[in-house]
Amino acid sequence: MKELKILYLYPDLLELYGDYGNIQILKYRIEKRGFKAIIDRYCINDEAPDFKSYDLIFAGGGADNEQSILAKDLFQYKDKIKEAVDNGVFFLLICGAYQLFGKYYKGVEGNIVKGLNIFDYYTEAIADRKQRCIGNIVIEATLNGKKTKVIGFENHGGQTFNIDKPFGKVLFGNGNKFSDTEEGFFLNNVIATYLHGPLLSKNPEVTDYIIKYCLDRKYNEDIVLDPLDNSFENACREQLLKTFEVPI
Ligand code: GLN
Repeated sequence: MKELKILYLYPDLLELYGDYGNIQILKYRIEKRGFKAIIDRYCINDEAPDFKSYDLIFAGGGADNEQSILAKDLFQYKDKIKEAVDNGVFFLLICGAYQLFGKYYKGVEGNIVKGLNIFDYYTEAIADRKQRCIGNIVIEATLNGKKTKVIGFENHGGQTFNIDKPFGKVLFGNGNKFSDTEEGFFLNNVIATYLHGPLLSKNPEVTDYIIKYCLDRKYNEDIVLDPLDNSFENACREQLLKTFEVPI
């Protein structure tokens, strides 16, 4: 039986706004196809993970305080994580985790949290707790050449700059910063985004993009995923897009 190994980083600290749901949805859609999902968790001071042995590494959102708490622990793995990114391991990074893979995150108090500097972007929060990008968001992403609307919810004070490869074009909401036209950061094997929701609950095509990428890379095949019944997700999407007056 084909299997995918998933590493869930800091489930106790980076789990803001239900991002754990992304792990549940990945597991569900992997197993519905008859594959096996192996999920390991890593918390501060656990034994160092073998990052390159995983197919997918996930980390969710976190408040400024939690980001500061884990940053030092995360930074010790900078080179191993960079190696995993360069080797094609898939990274799904939501909000706080997205920010920590850049050069730095400057929190609302002005404190600088050193990032892994794996990507060239950097993030600075506005020094006013009331100034946050909060609300529903819709972006248009291109996955395997196919345009798809990605729907989520954003809640971040951080404004992210110096993005050369955005995850998508903003159709509704803010994006990487207030009133931005771009959201997130994207490579074939990296989706870094501000979209909570959890992200994958409303976006089955994004989940299947990730699953297919990981399977194809691991088994060196062009795997065709059995279609699943997405009627519930699509009904939710249609309703949301209508509410936000974004063409379906
Ligand atoms: N603390 C970061 C910010 O406010 C990230 C928030 C989050 O992960 N939702 O921008």
